[in-house]
Amino acid sequence: MRPEVLYPLFAQTTTLPGIGPRLAKLVERIAGRNVAGLCWHLPTGLIDRRLSPKLADAPAGVVVTVTVTVDAHLPPPNRRLPYKVRCHDETAGLTLVFFHAHDDYLKRNLPVGEQRVLSGKLETYGGHLQMTHPDYIAKPEEMAQLQRVEPIYPLTAGLAPRLLARAIQAAITRAPELPEWIEPNLLAKMKWPGWRTALWVAHNPTSEADLSPGSPARRRLAYDELLANQLAIALIRAQERRPIGRKIRGDGHLRARVLAALPYSLTGAQQQALAEIDGDLASPYRMLRLLQGDVGSGKTVVALLAMLSAVECGSQAAFMAPTEILARQHLATLEPLAAAAGLRIALLTGRDKGKARTATLHALAEGSLPLVIGTHALLQEDVAFRDLAMAVVDEQHRFGVEQRLLLADKGRRSHLLAMTATPIPRTLMMTVYGDLDVSRLTEKPPGRKPIDTRTLPLERLPEVIAAVRRAVAGKARIFWVCPLVDESDAVDLAAAEQRFEELKQAFPERVGLVHGRMKGAERDAAMAAFSEGLIDILVATTVIEVGVDVPAASVMVIEHAERFGLAQLHQLRGRIGRGAARSTCLLLYHPPLGETAKARLNILRDTEDGFRIAEEDLRLRGAGEILGTRQSGLPDFRLAQPAEHADLIALAHDDARLALARDASLESPRGRALRVLLYLFERDAAVKTLRAA
Ligand code: ADP
Ligand code: MG
Repeated sequence: MRPEVLYPLFAQTTTLPGIGPRLAKLVERIAGRNVAGLCWHLPTGLIDRRLSPKLADAPAGVVVTVTVTVDAHLPPPNRRLPYKVRCHDETAGLTLVFFHAHDDYLKRNLPVGEQRVLSGKLETYGGHLQMTHPDYIAKPEEMAQLQRVEPIYPLTAGLAPRLLARAIQAAITRAPELPEWIEPNLLAKMKWPGWRTALWVAHNPTSEADLSPGSPARRRLAYDELLANQLAIALIRAQERRPIGRKIRGDGHLRARVLAALPYSLTGAQQQALAEIDGDLASPYRMLRLLQGDVGSGKTVVALLAMLSAVECGSQAAFMAPTEILARQHLATLEPLAAAAGLRIALLTGRDKGKARTATLHALAEGSLPLVIGTHALLQEDVAFRDLAMAVVDEQHRFGVEQRLLLADKGRRSHLLAMTATPIPRTLMMTVYGDLDVSRLTEKPPGRKPIDTRTLPLERLPEVIAAVRRAVAGKARIFWVCPLVDESDAVDLAAAEQRFEELKQAFPERVGLVHGRMKGAERDAAMAAFSEGLIDILVATTVIEVGVDVPAASVMVIEHAERFGLAQLHQLRGRIGRGAARSTCLLLYHPPLGETAKARLNILRDTEDGFRIAEEDLRLRGAGEILGTRQSGLPDFRLAQPAEHADLIALAHDDARLALARDASLESPRGRALRVLLYLFERDAAVKTLRAA
């Protein structure tokens, strides 16, 4: 149950002054439905009205607050011209300018002969001072109420800045005093304010420095959010981590056969990863390991060898991939290897129906089928195993956390190996998994050649086509990627189809097309034709992004490269450079490119190191976007900015573990405060694990 002290923060925004049902809908778009959401909506700028010069000394172009006497009203001869009001102080005159003014309103608020305080931006016009539409007009005795420094908040269309600001001030006033959950030593060392003060300071900036993510108040708030995140992960992990008493220790006879059948030997990194996996399997705990390796580093074979351990012990293993194409490709790679070990392996995707599917399900349920590869279809309710001991999830960031666990739960808490080529920086990784075990394939299989990457504006398409022609003549195979962020985007789809038609004109009979909305069989046919060399050019939307392995492909053209995430471009590029030939990647952009966009594409040109690319991308764009879209599986932070607060992630991680080591059930005074923190950030599920314990 949520602690009572937090109730005011979880009240609906409609309980705030000025927020009715209509405005609440607008507010919801930017800050959610409750008061807490508004508290987390931090200002991004400020207007400083503290400068109060005499008119003669006032600088033009800046916001000032001045005290003047009203001299005369000059209504315009017609409505198209502005209404003017003359004023002065003891040093100079000032003209106020109003367009589309309500005369009554102005007469009432600016009575001739009286003093008024005005705040707004001063301009000079024909050597004379003027102020167009002052932001504030107040009587001198109302001065005290004038907010001298005004925070500026991110808005949404239809929401008036002042209304939002007023609602937010009301929200932070509602914020209660909360027990301190940060260790006194840390608080002192960091010189952080208490929670409520931090909130107040963050919303009442007095300088640009107060707006920076590095300000003490903002760092404190960010730390709170990160600590809640780390604590929640640690609690859930502790639950998952209970011993399951299912050690797997294969005798290696199947592995030996597969290793003998491989046309290469494992790299040191692959052997190391396998040893780490074996260590997990032999322990009494459930394995939850992420195998991270750049594109082409050879994760698939490591997964197969890991799965064989389960099979050697008489259990089953399943391998889930995010797309049909990828699942089929894995089958093509793994089937001959499994055969070398005398094992059957089946495919299960959404396209399998009827008798074949029934037969596969039956074989899985009775245990006669040791290995299965599939898509999300593996998660369907009627898919059951006799004894699933190992689940592998390829390109794991394409799946939600629940889906990963759903597959593992088809067994009796089977071991889970998640794989990814998307190099998530370590700090970010912690925000998703806490201390998930990670194996890294840091070394690529021998013989890979660097890829020559270039950036070109789209206007130079004719040159690109000429280059493709030369490449085709030299027997190269070419991926031609068109952006299609959303498979239902008709405009993008049309563009891809049109490019396909154009290329077909230029290269008759040698071009194929794959996109997500094609029928599965058609897509397979096009992929197969490309893979076998029946066509030279494959026009594709990003369905080829993950895992597709055609070693003969050595050229990749990517259109509208500026629309892709860096990690995604890196993945795409990883489709080439696998064979013996030298590879080229052409990134075509639509000019003009902004500074950041240019810098991003240049990173790609300068390096093939996925980790560096990810770190740079994080620095340039922030975490939310780094992995492309929502699919990233990364938590959405409101206060923490993973790039700017990377040091705090590590700190929160250690802090959470230490706190739980000292007080696993969170019963001490600090433990109680930490519970409040968890509820504050809506980590209720994590608190429930405490009760279940
Ligand atoms: P990814 O890590 O991107 O999933 P894959 O598992 O698809 O990479 O492997 C990429 C290519 O490298 C495949 O063609 C595979 O056969 C090959 N490969 C894997 N391991 C080795 C190795 N140790 N030596 C040489 N080639 C390897
Ligand atoms: Mg792969």
